[in-house]
Amino acid sequence: MSNVSVKGPLPGPRGKEFLDKWHIYEADVVGYQTPVVWESAQGCIVHDVDGNTFIDWTSGVLVTNVGHCHPLLVKAAQEASAKLLNNYECANTYRIEAAERLVKAMPAHLDQCFFLSTGSEAVEASLRLMRRKTGKYEVLSFMGGFHGRTYGVASVGGLAGPKKQYGPVVPGTIRAPYPNPYRDPLGFCDDGPDFKRYFDYLDLLVLTNSTGNLGGIIVEPYQGAGGFIFPPEGWLKRLFAWAKERGLLMTLDEVQSSYGRTGKMWAMEHENLQPDIVALGKGIGCGVPVSAVCARSEVFACLSKGEMSSTLGGNPVASAAVTAIFDIFEKEPLVQNSAQMGDYIKRGLREIAKKCPYLGDVRGKGLVMGMEFVKDKATKEPAPELIKPIINNCAENGLLVGSVGLYGNVIRVAPPLVITHEEADESLAIMENVLINLRL
Ligand code: PMP
Repeated sequence: MSNVSVKGPLPGPRGKEFLDKWHIYEADVVGYQTPVVWESAQGCIVHDVDGNTFIDWTSGVLVTNVGHCHPLLVKAAQEASAKLLNNYECANTYRIEAAERLVKAMPAHLDQCFFLSTGSEAVEASLRLMRRKTGKYEVLSFMGGFHGRTYGVASVGGLAGPKKQYGPVVPGTIRAPYPNPYRDPLGFCDDGPDFKRYFDYLDLLVLTNSTGNLGGIIVEPYQGAGGFIFPPEGWLKRLFAWAKERGLLMTLDEVQSSYGRTGKMWAMEHENLQPDIVALGKGIGCGVPVSAVCARSEVFACLSKGEMSSTLGGNPVASAAVTAIFDIFEKEPLVQNSAQMGDYIKRGLREIAKKCPYLGDVRGKGLVMGMEFVKDKATKEPAPELIKPIINNCAENGLLVGSVGLYGNVIRVAPPLVITHEEADESLAIMENVLINLRL
């Protein structure tokens, strides 16, 4: 039996009514989205206001790792909200339990955390911690990187969008290339296991750009918004060693790569990385607004009392969600499913790529994959004009997908980690059908 059902062109009549109203009142400033108005969702399945049913490959943009509206998460949030909605900066039992669960789930050296509300806020806190701990204001970050849209994190970001026409950004950023195996004009990716060419270049970059105040590095384990770019194996490990040799602090932005997304609970596990600071968001609340910064206690010790706070950070509902999500991960094999279904879907997409002249690359780990579209597989010229038709045609056939990428030419594949074989097969069949009929 099919999981999907789309009754007619999108948006349907009720959807159209809502969409027409939406941007009268709320500014129309987000990126292109499928013309579908979500009404409810469970697991991997989304229902819209016209009674259409879709398989979700967006996972609410990599948020809903445990599946939409997981009953244990819903129950925990409902119970907490009926008892205590907020208690700014004070102790509450939910917050204390959530902190204990989070720290115990983290690699042992990250022995403290602090709760905030959004991914951007967690990265901002990480940047401030690096500056305070080292007393140095410069940060090394990466071209194509994305860490959020508040001013500080947008300043270290390496995508044009978040900082376009905002005038001077926060000073002190040195931006390095992020090695991209699909587009590697400088040969950084196939230069042997020590990546000598890359790190010689990095030394030169710092020598010629730093005022001598470089304190730390912020990096994503894979570049998300940049286009789901996975660096070559061993590069992150080498980067961490390079930082250690120079006494730099390392912040790993795991806002979207954590909670099983890459087939491990934390992306840092793939290469046994030991960041000084980790920023978490998205999957930590699976839809409930919560984020956290985790670090060694000696890093947090650089702050005096009163130097970090956030009105809704650690609030009871968000904290109950954090705990419920660890309960769910203990009960359900989500991390294994991410690894297995990720491999399965990736294999399926690579088969489809053989039949589609525009699908230049399929890459990923666990249940986060990028499909990069090009005009020609030999020249690799980006084909962003294909993205809107793919998004629309997939939706018309019952599959929700979204796009990312420096060149706007990547479809993201990031279903909730509960996706079944049956749902995977059906969604792959939809994608194949759409791509076989795709024309430039
Ligand atoms: N860091 C990364 C790696 C992200 O992908 C995002 C969001 N896409 C953020 C930070 C910012 O998170 P938020 O939108 O919750 O502020």
